[in-house]
Amino acid sequence: MASTPTITTKVQTKDLSGLSLIAAHSHISGLGLDENLKPKESAEGMVGQLKARKAAGVILKMIQAGKIAGRAVLIAGPPSTGKTAIAMGLSQSLGTDVPFTAIAGSEVFSLELSKTESLIQAFRKSIGIKIKEETEIIEGEVVEIQIDRSITGGHKQGKLTIKTADMETIYELGNKMIEGLTKEKVLAGDVISIDKASGKITKLGKSFTRARDYDAMGPETKFVQCPEGELQKRKEVVHTVSLHEIDVINSRQQGFLALFSGDTGEIRSEVRDQINTKVAEWKEEGKAEIVPGVLFIDEVHMLDIECFSFINRALEDDFAPIVIMATNRGITRTRGTNYKSPHGLPVDLLDRSIIIHTSSYSADEIRTILSIRANEEEVELTPDALALLTKIGQETSLRYASNLISVSQQIALKRRSTSVELPDIKRAYMLFLDADRSVQYLEEFPNQFIDNSGNVTIGQKD
Ligand code: ATP
Repeated sequence: MASTPTITTKVQTKDLSGLSLIAAHSHISGLGLDENLKPKESAEGMVGQLKARKAAGVILKMIQAGKIAGRAVLIAGPPSTGKTAIAMGLSQSLGTDVPFTAIAGSEVFSLELSKTESLIQAFRKSIGIKIKEETEIIEGEVVEIQIDRSITGGHKQGKLTIKTADMETIYELGNKMIEGLTKEKVLAGDVISIDKASGKITKLGKSFTRARDYDAMGPETKFVQCPEGELQKRKEVVHTVSLHEIDVINSRQQGFLALFSGDTGEIRSEVRDQINTKVAEWKEEGKAEIVPGVLFIDEVHMLDIECFSFINRALEDDFAPIVIMATNRGITRTRGTNYKSPHGLPVDLLDRSIIIHTSSYSADEIRTILSIRANEEEVELTPDALALLTKIGQETSLRYASNLISVSQQIALKRRSTSVELPDIKRAYMLFLDADRSVQYLEEFPNQFIDNSGNVTIGQKD
C-alpha cells in the first residue's frame, strides 16, 4: 500500500531572539548522547557535565514522545557550568518541529507589555499547532471517492462523489445508476469511466488498455485511475505554527504584519479564548495536532512572585509547554517578597519542578571546552597558550577564559602572528580584568566611584 506523501513546512518557532546566545553557544549542536541516552564524554560540542546531560536526555525523550506537557524543570548550578548550554543542546536535539522559545527572566519587565502578557506570549510561542491541510494534490488523479449506498439500501443506486486533482471536476451523482459498482468497492488501481452527461459510472477493471477500448463512449467520458492504496486524499500539507502566531494573525488590532515586527502589543483574552476553542475543535476533528514545546527561562530568579504565581497556574493549562528554568542563585530573596527561598523560587513552584544540578568543571573539561571554542572562533592556540588559558579558566571562570580567546587573537594579529601564543594570553589577562580582580580594584579605590547614597569623591585615594 502506497503511503500518503506528507509535506512538512515549518514556520520558524525557535525564538532565541531574546538572548544573544548564538555566538556563545554556537559550538553546541546537541546533547552529545548515544542512542541509549548515555552522554559521551565529548560530542556535539558538549563536554562533561554527564549527570545533567543524561537528565536532559530523559527530558528530551519525554518531549519527543509528545506525552508530557505542563512540567517544570529547573537547571541549577554555579555560573558558567553549562546550564544555558544544556538547554541549547536540548533545543538542537528537538528538531525543527518542536517549538523552543528562550527568554531571560528580566525580559518580562517592559513598558509595552504587562508581565503576564509577556509570559502568556512566551508560553503560547512554545506550543506548536500542526495543521493538516489536504490541498496539494496531483493533477489528473482521483483524490477522493465516496460511495454512499445507504440512500436506497440497494446496491444499484447511491450517491457517488468523485473529486479529481484539479478540484474542478467534482461529480455529484446523487441517486444515479452506478453500473459495475454494484457489490464491490472501488479499489486501488481500478479504472472507472464517468460519463459527465449521463453520470454513468462504469468500472472497467484494472488497466488503461481496457479503458481505451471504451473511447467509443464519447468525449464526455472521462477515464480515471484510482490511486494506489486506500482511496483517500493524495497529499497532506502540514504547517506547524505556534499558538502565538495564530493569536497574532487573528488579532484585528495587530494583524499578521505584527509577526514580522514583533510588535504585537497586548492580545485580548477573548481572541485567545476563541482560538483555544477552535484549536480544540480542529484537534477533535483530526485536522490539527498539538505539539507541546519548550519554554526556556534563563536567569529565572529575575522573575517576581506575581510571575511565579502566573507560571504555577499556566502549567495547568490545556496548552502548556514544558518550562525549563535556569538559575545560578543559591538561597536568595524571591523578588516581590521579603522571604528567602532556594534559588529565589517560591516553594510551591519548586515543589512541582524537577531539578537538575550542574557542577564545576575539571581542568581537563575546561581545556576541552576552551579548545572547542577556539576552534569555533577559528583561533589557533599553541599548547602553552591553551594550558595557561585553562589555568585561568580554573581560577576565574570558564566564561572569562573563553572571552580571552578572541581578545588574545587580536593581540596576536597585531604582531602579525596567526597563532595565539603564551604572551598573548598573558597580555590579554593583564588588559582585561576578571570579576575578582575588578572587585579587588573597587576595594582598593572605593572613593573613586559613586556610592549607594550618590556621593563621589573623584581623584581622592583611600
Ligand atoms: P550562568 O549561570 O552564568 O548563566 P551557565 O551555567 O548558563 O552560566 P553557560 O552560559 O551555559 O553557563 O556556559 C558558559 C560558556 O561555556 C558558554 O559558551 C557555553 O556554551 C560553554 N559551556 C559550558 N558548559 C559547557 C559544556 N559542558 N560543553 C561545552 N560548552 C560548554
